[in-house]
Amino acid sequence: MAHFLFFAIIFILVADFGMERYLALLNIKHSKKSLPEILKDIYDTDKYAKQQDYFRTNARFGMLTSTFSFIVTLLMYALGGFGRVDQLVQGYVQNPILTPLVFFGVIFLANDIIGIPFDIYDTFVIEQKFGFNKVTPKIYIFDKLKGYLLTVIIGGGLLALIIWIYTLTPDYFWLLAWAVITVFSLFMTMFYSEIIVPLFNKQTPLPEGELRSEIEKFALSTGFNLTNIFVIDGSKRSTKANAYFSGLGAKKRIVLYDTLMDTMSNEEIVAVLAHEIGHYKHKHTKFNFLISIPSTLVLFFVFGLILKSDAMAQALGGTTASFHLNALAFSILYSPISLILDISTNVLSRKFEYQADAFAAKNGYAEQLKSGLKKLSATTLSNLMPHPLFVFFHYSHPTLFQRISKLTDSQV
Ligand SMILES: [Zn+2]
Repeated sequence: MAHFLFFAIIFILVADFGMERYLALLNIKHSKKSLPEILKDIYDTDKYAKQQDYFRTNARFGMLTSTFSFIVTLLMYALGGFGRVDQLVQGYVQNPILTPLVFFGVIFLANDIIGIPFDIYDTFVIEQKFGFNKVTPKIYIFDKLKGYLLTVIIGGGLLALIIWIYTLTPDYFWLLAWAVITVFSLFMTMFYSEIIVPLFNKQTPLPEGELRSEIEKFALSTGFNLTNIFVIDGSKRSTKANAYFSGLGAKKRIVLYDTLMDTMSNEEIVAVLAHEIGHYKHKHTKFNFLISIPSTLVLFFVFGLILKSDAMAQALGGTTASFHLNALAFSILYSPISLILDISTNVLSRKFEYQADAFAAKNGYAEQLKSGLKKLSATTLSNLMPHPLFVFFHYSHPTLFQRISKLTDSQV
């Protein structure tokens, strides 16, 4: 059995890497196609050359990083590396809760440190070269430290709680762990903007002025409370602009990047805001949260079964079932299922984006949303011609071409 599981793990790793690389290649090929008429006014010749350069630079870099990480991961699984880390940790700590915590801590830290050079190259060389980067070495270091601190406190705390539950009751572990994760994610959905975001960014209520009064007019007409609209200092890290909707109930908020104000006209910002209010009106956050509940339940049910198997630990070079080795084996064996879940989530998310766009269009902002989306694409040098299969697997939003076509249809 351990042999079979071992080969299944290796097969899944290789198949996933092969599939992702194939999709990336399709995407690169497709990006060279000539633009459809409705997208031709987004870039001038120079800017389009720059976009193609940016896209290809990122594609090459993605190929390099994913190949590197694939090789390291494959070697760790194929040569029983995790079993060895386990023995090493066992030599120092032998406690049913502490051993898995230290084990995951070591794996997390090693993985993170290996990734740092790639991350630095991406931020300070690629993003810098194309004029996006605003991150200073100081911000980079503080972000990293704050990230570690959060991982230790939140990740470590949650993990300790879940392992503790497992040591108490292996049979009902799945149900209790599911309840803990569900309550935790509800809490995070509600308070993420108030607890986590302020550690990295400043959020301020939309300041008085022309933009605010235009937004006021629109928000009032749709019944959305203005006190829930915030501006975030995204310009601290990048020139790229964005806007998003988060939270539930009284904790709902729309967050606009300050960089949006430099890029767009007031009317276009209101159109983007109308799109975000569309998400709120259609209760998309609530829906996403609700459908995550049964899928987490299935995940923990399967996880609970797998935790008891000695063969799982042996497939990774261990001897008997242990929380951490079995969890690692599970993370790979479950990945085909989570791939299917991810694809379904993306299909649904793209549907939601169309609904939010339609809400903006219904309120008379189709034209402004079109020009706003075009400007967003232009300033982020985004790829206008992704391959349909790549979109199917990875895009949470419809392509710009699809959104503009749909908005144009809604106008006639
Ligand atoms: Zn949206």
